[in-house]
Amino acid sequence: MEKIYEGKAKIVYAGPEEGTYRVYYKDDATAFNGAKHGRIEGKGTVNNRISARLFEYLDKHGLQSHFIRMLSERESLVWQVEIVPLEVIIRYRAAGSFSKRYGVPEDTALKAPLVEFSLKSDALSDPLITEDAAVALSIATREEVVTLRRQALEIGTLLREFFATRGLILIDLKLEFGRKDGKILLADEISPDTMRLWRKDTHEKMDKDRFRRDLGGVEEAYQEVLRLVLEKV
Ligand code: 5GP
Repeated sequence: MEKIYEGKAKIVYAGPEEGTYRVYYKDDATAFNGAKHGRIEGKGTVNNRISARLFEYLDKHGLQSHFIRMLSERESLVWQVEIVPLEVIIRYRAAGSFSKRYGVPEDTALKAPLVEFSLKSDALSDPLITEDAAVALSIATREEVVTLRRQALEIGTLLREFFATRGLILIDLKLEFGRKDGKILLADEISPDTMRLWRKDTHEKMDKDRFRRDLGGVEEAYQEVLRLVLEKV
């Protein structure tokens, strides 16, 4: 079992077949660029299962990802991709760093969905980066940037619909993409670690903000999102 890479929430191992990786989801939780550490009991299994369900849903709607299949409760088989070192963030309502940056109260509706790019860099704390700077620094080609934006908006629209039918509002989400055979492919995970999800009726936070902001009920919120995600609607 050759370990390829260990991140804050996942470990990547060589896969059983050529061109694949085995991704292991950990219970470890970090926030604020690693300044806050903790554990969310059962998070690994929950995030693996939520990601798997969402990747399958997106695939059914024509949006391919690196996901192949779940291998166990905590592990998934994925295609090897060359990760584009950009975080693609889609926002529907103001929250988090956006609210702070522009002095806008959380939960303010945005006139149109918004796409932001951040440079994936722990050393620099993932700074916002313009599309021009990403191209100028050869982080992505102009064509790739256009594709990332278009795919991110398509994925966001599909996920908004998915969660709306399950009583949840998708506030924002962070996506990562990779290159495979010259194509851009959705990668990483889609889970309450990487999205803000609020209950439609009460606006209760059901995501990693419960951990970041010490709101309590973290495990319960993750389990509830899993339950809703697996619900037949
Ligand atoms: P914000 O920029 O407001 O902190 O985050 C916007 C959205 O992207 C949130 O749903 C947040 O969970 C996600 N996000 C942004 N940066 C990161 C990151 O470095 N790691 C993870 N897991 N999620 C992130």
